[in-house]
Amino acid sequence: MNKPQKGLPRPEPRQFDSTVLAKEVVERLTYRIGKDAANAHKHDWLHAVILVIRDRIIDAWIRTKKEFHEDKGKRVYYLSLEFLIGRLMRDAVSNMEMLEQMQEALSSLNVDLDVVAELEPDAALGNGGLGRLAACFMESMATVGVPAYGYGIRYVNGMFRQEISDGWQVELPETWLAHGNPWEFERREFSYEIGFAGKVEAAEETLGTPAKMKWSPQERVVATPYDTPIVGWRGNQVNSLRLWSAKPIDPILLDQFNAGDHQGALRESNRAQSLTRVLYPADSSLAGQSLRLRQEYFFTSASLQDIVRRHIQDFGDVRTLHEKASIQLNDTHPAVGVAELVRLLVDVHDIEFAEAWEIARETFSYTNHTLLPEALESWPVPLFERLLPRHMQLVYAINAHILKKARKIEGFDDAAVSAISLIDENGERRVRMGNLAFVGSHKVNGVSALHTELMKQTVFKDLHKLYPERINNKTNGVTFRRWMMQCNPELTSLIEATIGADFKDDAEQLVRLNKFADDAAFQEKFMEVKLQKKIALSNHLKNYCGAKIDPNAMFDIQIKRIHEYKRQLLNIVHAVALYDQIRSHPELDWAPRVKIFGGKAAPSYHNAKLIIKLANDVARVINNDPAVQGLLKIVFVPNYNVSQAERLFPAADLSEQISTAGMEASGTGNMKFQVNGALTIGTLDGANVEIKEHVGDENIVIFGMTAEEVAARREQGYSPRDVIEQSKELKQALTAIQSGTFSPDDPHRYSGLIDGIYEHDWFMVAADFDSYSNAQRRVDEIWSDKKLWAKMAIKNTANSGWFSSDRTIRQYAEDIWKVGLK
Ligand SMILES: *Cc1c(COP(=O)(O)O)cnc(C)c1O
Repeated sequence: MNKPQKGLPRPEPRQFDSTVLAKEVVERLTYRIGKDAANAHKHDWLHAVILVIRDRIIDAWIRTKKEFHEDKGKRVYYLSLEFLIGRLMRDAVSNMEMLEQMQEALSSLNVDLDVVAELEPDAALGNGGLGRLAACFMESMATVGVPAYGYGIRYVNGMFRQEISDGWQVELPETWLAHGNPWEFERREFSYEIGFAGKVEAAEETLGTPAKMKWSPQERVVATPYDTPIVGWRGNQVNSLRLWSAKPIDPILLDQFNAGDHQGALRESNRAQSLTRVLYPADSSLAGQSLRLRQEYFFTSASLQDIVRRHIQDFGDVRTLHEKASIQLNDTHPAVGVAELVRLLVDVHDIEFAEAWEIARETFSYTNHTLLPEALESWPVPLFERLLPRHMQLVYAINAHILKKARKIEGFDDAAVSAISLIDENGERRVRMGNLAFVGSHKVNGVSALHTELMKQTVFKDLHKLYPERINNKTNGVTFRRWMMQCNPELTSLIEATIGADFKDDAEQLVRLNKFADDAAFQEKFMEVKLQKKIALSNHLKNYCGAKIDPNAMFDIQIKRIHEYKRQLLNIVHAVALYDQIRSHPELDWAPRVKIFGGKAAPSYHNAKLIIKLANDVARVINNDPAVQGLLKIVFVPNYNVSQAERLFPAADLSEQISTAGMEASGTGNMKFQVNGALTIGTLDGANVEIKEHVGDENIVIFGMTAEEVAARREQGYSPRDVIEQSKELKQALTAIQSGTFSPDDPHRYSGLIDGIYEHDWFMVAADFDSYSNAQRRVDEIWSDKKLWAKMAIKNTANSGWFSSDRTIRQYAEDIWKVGLK
């Protein structure tokens, strides 16, 4: 085809007034969906509305791409196996600043935007915090003007849907694509082949050492991209999220089919498609299956081929890649990319290994998300070698290069060398993905100040000695567009009426609220908004799961993945103790509380699933006991996801951030609560430490051991049994659970769980219990002083601006990516 003529008339950019919008919605409904307004279903309206919004975004998207192209600047590539996006429509209309016009347009058609918005499925392509961070970052990169592309996998089944049946978690597949996905655009022309297994031979011309090689994969699939536009605040920039889907090279083997082997003819096709069928639902633990490694390599290779292709197209010479591209590895899931880029440079682009290695290291940077040993990725050498034989060679070559250097440095004994090696030689030999990501990156960041320090002292102790400049801190953040402006418009309006609108473009302007913290009139308005959000949540929960809760009670909320280190168990044991206390001392002034839990357990995580059952068992007993009616209630909200989160954070009074100190890398849920004016009860872990610094010691309730104290306690030999013997309140609660008070149908259901606390209590539930219980009494006291509570809540919102992901992204841009902002 000839190049299209220059100067073809461009379509006029779309208009935003409500009459135009209403007309277009009806037009889309008619000509794109093929329905008459009179008999259109709700989903048809949703689809039509999205198409109308999408057109506006496309104008800005095309403009952004043109700017990137003309700018010839450096680009940022964010590689993440997970993007926990949630719904996109409200985000899009709100960031395009067309919410009111669209509401007006739809009401002129007798359609309610809120009702339609509720039909949009959550894009739940992630497990929890790590995936949600990637989604917040995408929005912030578009907002602050980073020329960025996100890369990930288009899972057909994202995070499972959780139902609670008789108190137990049941996992059901989530079919988010069932009604189609109007936000995505398939871009077949940018498909790539991805190889697995096969053999490696010397290339025809052997170049350099280690030499260029020829890899002939035994198995090949095609990676096809689907692009979703990500709009920044005020629609200034629209970036792309490119998600890969696996397709077979030959959809059907016709010879085989014609010979009557129908299943065989489709085997290759099914095998290819199964690659991107489902998200692994394990959060913070290694999914060791080969399908997982295949997923990781699949999306990383496709992304790198795309990045290299774009670079060569724009700049001609692949040798300048590091000057024009920064690739951020979100955890070690894409760490195989280090070897893949070296492979592309050496084997495909004829660059010598040493130079290829330098280019790769200058291009990559890596974010570490966890110190939990069970979550540090490593792959058995035989598996890695079979699936990626060429990469295995390159991992050995990189390892030799690094270890040679290390051995020359004084103080690097055999133990230090074996600690930094890319191959774990203790027992079954394994490839250490964290070490590969570390050595293959020019910067390695932790996600909170504490976590960054702990990285230097633990997992990367020896690598840090070798590369003392490499580790840096970038404390996580959350996007205030979604987590304040969209989910809490009432609070947003109140703030705007009080300090003006500047905070919408610069969250740190919220500090101006500090001077209203003591203002009685403002306190009243602030708490009135909170009450409204609590009433809205109460109404929602009644419909959603039948829970009846009193909006005047304290909403004490713990919502996050269920994990032993996050210590939902500590919270449940406290509920049981509180239940005892209230019944023993009915004459005291107890603050009425509703303890709300939400979160999914990995399907294979036995204790986490048991903790969900325990929460529900305890809830059933407490909620049916007239002795504590109106004083204590427990609710487990099923299927915690981004859309549930948007209702829960604004309605919270108390934020539970009670992980064993040293184990939560950062947390971002803690920030979403703070933004919305909840008080935190928490340990000095992750970003809680920084929240405390920002709100001031007097505006947060801290309890429990510090990370150092936890480590020391373990070192000394911790005896939970002794601790339990000394705490009457704890012992009573544990005994009640253990003896079947909450599980009369199966009195031994929790024996193992509670035995674990007596025997080793790895997560220090017993050791921190008294301190936690006292901290909860302090919370009750604060609650009884309404003005004090209001003041503290206001101080939390007022000092939350630093936790905007815009701040985090600016720091990445300046210190790691070295990209200019628009
Ligand atoms: C913010 C968020 C998380 C992370 O919560 P943490 O408390 O930081 O673990 C997990 N899931 C969803 C749906 C979220 O919105």
